[in-house]
This record gives sequence, C-alpha cells and structure tokens, in this order.
Amino acid sequence: MTTTPIPHAAPAAPGSDTQPGAPRTYDVRTHGCQMNVHDSERLAGLLETAGYVDLATLPETQRPEVADVVVFNTCAVRENADNKLYGNLGQLRPAKLANPDLQIAVGGCMAQKDRDTIVRKAPWVDVVFGTHNIGSLPALLDRARHNRKAQVEILESLEVFPSTLPTRRDSAYSGWVSISVGCNNTCTFCIVPSLRGKEQDRRPEEILAEVRALVAQGVIEITLLGQNVNTYGVEFGDRLAFGKLLRACGEVEGLERVRFTSPHPAAFTTDVIEAMAQTPNVMPSLHMPLQSGSDAVLKAMRRSYRSDRFLRILDEVRSLIPDAAITTDLIVGFPGETEADFQATLDVVAAARFSSAFTFQYSIRPGTPAATMPDQIPKAVVQERFDRLIALQEEISWAGHRAWEGREVEVLVAPFEGRKDAQTSRLSGRARDNRLVHFALPADLPDADRPRPGDLVTVGVTYGAPHHLVADSVRAGGTFAVRRTPGGAAWSALQESGSAAKPAVSLGMPSIGRPVGREAAGRGAAPGSLSGAGSCA
Ligand code: SF4
Repeated sequence: MTTTPIPHAAPAAPGSDTQPGAPRTYDVRTHGCQMNVHDSERLAGLLETAGYVDLATLPETQRPEVADVVVFNTCAVRENADNKLYGNLGQLRPAKLANPDLQIAVGGCMAQKDRDTIVRKAPWVDVVFGTHNIGSLPALLDRARHNRKAQVEILESLEVFPSTLPTRRDSAYSGWVSISVGCNNTCTFCIVPSLRGKEQDRRPEEILAEVRALVAQGVIEITLLGQNVNTYGVEFGDRLAFGKLLRACGEVEGLERVRFTSPHPAAFTTDVIEAMAQTPNVMPSLHMPLQSGSDAVLKAMRRSYRSDRFLRILDEVRSLIPDAAITTDLIVGFPGETEADFQATLDVVAAARFSSAFTFQYSIRPGTPAATMPDQIPKAVVQERFDRLIALQEEISWAGHRAWEGREVEVLVAPFEGRKDAQTSRLSGRARDNRLVHFALPADLPDADRPRPGDLVTVGVTYGAPHHLVADSVRAGGTFAVRRTPGGAAWSALQESGSAAKPAVSLGMPSIGRPVGREAAGRGAAPGSLSGAGSCA
C-alpha cells in the first residue's frame, strides 16, 4: 500500500454553500463498465452511512449546483479516459476555489493506474483511492479535511471482498450480485488484470445469502457479476462451481430471472450449458466475447480459444437452448490484423448469427502489451472494416428480430428503457432473452391495472425492428397479460416513500443494482471503447 500526503492547493475563499445544519451532499459520477456501476452503489452506500445525502434526492429548489463531495469513479479502458477525467476535474476547479469545503475524490481504474499523477495534474483534488480500497473513502475524506492535504491511498491487492460494504442499490426489482473480482488472464489489449488484480472468488453460501436477502426485499432479477464468471471457483478449487451456482439460484423461490456477465469462451464448459438449460429461471441469453474470428489475431491477443471452438460452443448452447440469444464483443483493427484476418471475423460473425454485437475499433491503451506491438492499423483502414462489420451484424440482428414476429414474449417492465414511450403510448422492458421490447397498452386500461416497472407482461411481437421488438398485439385484440410481481410492488413502495426511487442502504451485504441497459443490436461503439458491454472476458 502507498499512502502519500501531497501538498494540497488550499482553496482561496472561505465558507461553504451548505447551510448550517443542512446535511452534506454527495454526487458519485460513474464511468465505465458494470463493475464500476456496482462499485458506485457501494460508494453511495458508504457515503450515506457516513451521513452524506445524495444530491439528486434533494428537491430541485433546494439543490446546490455542486455537491459537497463529488466522487469520480473512473474507467481506464475507454479511449481518452485520462483527457476526459482531467477535463471533468478542470470544470470543477472554479467551484472548488469558491467553496473550500467542497471535496473532490477520484477512484476506480484511472486512479489505480495514475495515482499521484492525478493530484499533480489537478492539485485541487482531495482524495485518490484505488479499486481495492473503496471502503476507505469516508476515512480519506475526513483525513483530507482534517489535514488540509490531498490523500492518495492505493492498495495493491484486495483485502476485503467489497460485498461486505454498505450499498445504496439503484433498483428495487433488479440487482447485481458480485461473485468474483479480478482476472487471471493476460489479454494483450486489456488493462484490467493490472488494475483489478488476480481473481478472487466469493464463497457460494455468501452469494446465495445475498440473493435470498434481495429476493426478500422484492428483487426478482439478478445478474451475477465477475470479470470472468465461468472461472468462478478457481480460487477454492471447484471447477464446476459456476454451474452449481446457477442451479442453486434456480432453487431460490421468487427469483424470476438469473443472468450473468461475462463468461470467457476458453472456460465455457458443458456443465454450465446444461445448468443454463435445466434451470428455468436462468435466462436464455448469453454474452460471450469473441473479439476476433481470426486465430492469428486471437493468438496475438493472448486469447486461448480458437474460432472453431467458439462456434462449437454456440452449437452446443443452441442444441440445448434453441431460443438462446447470443451476443458478443468484437474488436476491429487489432495490431497486425490483415484483410484476411478481418474476413475471418466476418465469416465467424456470419456463422455465429449473434443477436447483437458490441463492436469496437481498436485503439492504443497505454500500459497494455498491444500498445507497443508493431503493425498498428491506420485509422482509415480500421474504419472501413468497422463499417463492413456493422453492416453485416445489422443485417443478422434485424433478421433475428423479424423471426420473432407473431411470437409471444414475456417482458420485465423497466422505467427508463424507452425514450419515446410517452409519445408512442408504449412501455418498454427486456424479454427473457434480453431483447429490448416496446409494447402497447390497452386503450382503456385503468391506471390501477397499468403494469409497473418490475412487473412481467406477456405480449405478442408485431414487428421486428433493427434494434428492438415492437409488441403491439393488444391493438389488434391479441395477447396482453400482466403478472404483478413483488418487484413491481417494491418499485411502487419506493415511489410512495419518496426516497428518490432507490432502495435504502443495506449494511453488510453485497451490492446490487439495476443492470445497465444494453446497446441496441448490432450498434457500433465509440472507437476504442473496449468495454461497451461492460464485459471484458
Ligand atoms: S479481456 Fe477479460 S479475460 Fe482478458 S484479461 Fe481482460 S478481464 Fe481478463
């Protein structure tokens, strides 16, 4: 561990925006993957336990422009992550100068990577903490305030599994459950292993206790989260542990939907596929990163499977789970990628028939082995290949969506999935296979019968659009069936409690929250955003 007091640029003006007696507010700003979203739920829980109040929960008229504590939970995987961080910190500088009591903290992967550099470049930052010590944040804030010096604390490895920290969850009906942190692989484009460390697994009984506790609170959907979920168990010597965990989740009464992200193809075994197929509440969706269809590129990426093995896994999944929607991550323009290599990716994509893909243009990530590889591909070439890949995947995704026309889907209603819902008089949510569905309501539906976020609705698909399904069956006198669930009731209770629609902080149990919505089928991600799906495996 390194703890380095750094001379702090003392703010000029005295005083604070916070009125005497008013609670100090916080604002956690999250960048990056699901792992960070989940960590931010813990940061919020820690700050609330320490007496801070979420800025967003204050009525607009009483809300200061900037919270008393602003926390950046950063990502080092995204392109230009450092420029964006320093840009954001620069924007806060005037507020810091005007209000010396304002505290700024930087955590997450950029903090782990750049450490002291952050305080050198932005001396108005008060606290820098790493990925292994998010639990220290309140103490570091106190120490920085007391000492009037920035505090930088980075641990080299995880001491306590973060699941023991208090958590402020984002959703009443759906949540993350961390099963492992870190990764033992060494993919050459990835900075994660050096920032998150070796894989550490939580014990199954602790995971299941959290799952049951969540279900008791009204959660009906969980997503098991790990950098590499199907190597789960490696730390305690049980290679079948992940399949067993899925089956155990199947025994939890009231748990409607189980998802997981992300598995690594090299470790994807038949026992996991069988567990998925034989456990009714494990959803028929699989996000499995291919990254490249070229075996030469996979080798250069240090990905230990090959394309034929990947396709065999998909065959096996589809033979046992015929309706499985399979999604993936793809990187275009990895150093040394030839036109023949790229064609191999197109061939595998055509054969794999992914329901959607997160497609990324390779760009250099300092600190990764690939950053210094020869034969970096010119941007124009990468763009041209990227466009061809997107066009192919769009065609496949759309065909897959059209194949759902005339079939029924069960949708878990969500509050924020459909931007145009108000205009189109529809609600939105996710089908069992995780496809985005927009569906119409009966014209004469009383308000009391309206499905709530967290309820399950069965509707018929009337149109397969390129990036979603439209299910307006009720407008033609077809299926519209609502199943009110404890998830919907929990969501309702939160609205009535007026607690900013977030569950209360839970102490001592790991965090969960609303899984981030997926990008639309086949959509390309910003160049270089290597973790758009939030998955790395
Ligand atoms: S890409 Fe995934 S499997 Fe590879 S090193 Fe990164 S986290 Fe591990």
